[in-house]
Amino acid sequence: MSFDTLGLTPSLLSAVLKAGFTEPTPVQAAAIPKALAGSDLMVSAQTGSGKTAAFMLPALNRISSMPANKGTGVQVLVLTPTRELAMQVAEATKLYGAHLKDLRIAVVVGGMPYGAQLKALSRRVDVLVATPGRLIDHLQAKRVNLSTVHTLVLDEADRMLDMGFIEDIETIVGSTPKERQTLLFSATLDGTIARLASKMMRNPEQIQL
Ligand code: AMP
Repeated sequence: MSFDTLGLTPSLLSAVLKAGFTEPTPVQAAAIPKALAGSDLMVSAQTGSGKTAAFMLPALNRISSMPANKGTGVQVLVLTPTRELAMQVAEATKLYGAHLKDLRIAVVVGGMPYGAQLKALSRRVDVLVATPGRLIDHLQAKRVNLSTVHTLVLDEADRMLDMGFIEDIETIVGSTPKERQTLLFSATLDGTIARLASKMMRNPEQIQL
């Protein structure tokens, strides 16, 4: 299978090509068309499966199809359990979004100084990658507004729950619009994850490879 059958815009396809990817990984082949169609997804995927592109390519595709991408607020919010994963997701977003005009990515994570994050949040942000605890700080201080988010991604959701982020996640999700697309990635899709999903997703499609 090749990437150009998945329904992505040419600017994303050219970025994927430039990244050296010749064909989608199984999780990408399964998730990208469904995500592009607008479904909420629960995907069981391990690190190394290509899951980042599986959620970020459809998210960027949505950004690129928005009529005016300037002046709007955060469009895509990705929650990750750790600072390291947030950094990796942000790097991958730069790579996949290399041909989208003036794409703004911000990272908001714990254990890092506030200065740079405050500066980033004071400007336009299209894609925000965050760990839940630090994002809650910024939300409570009204330094970030999530009312324009159209795509919410929970990356490694099981690890976020293991780390005790459930309440933070619920608060954050409650600050995003109800009319959003939610993409949940997790090593397991067991009882706790299923309960979380049933609260925050609409008829999610399950992808288990
Ligand atoms: P991830 O599971 O998202 O952390 O991705 C793991 C690694 O696979 C990263 O280094 C990606 O750059 C790479 N990767 C993702 N998708 C593909 C693909 N379709 N073909 C080749 N490498 C890929």
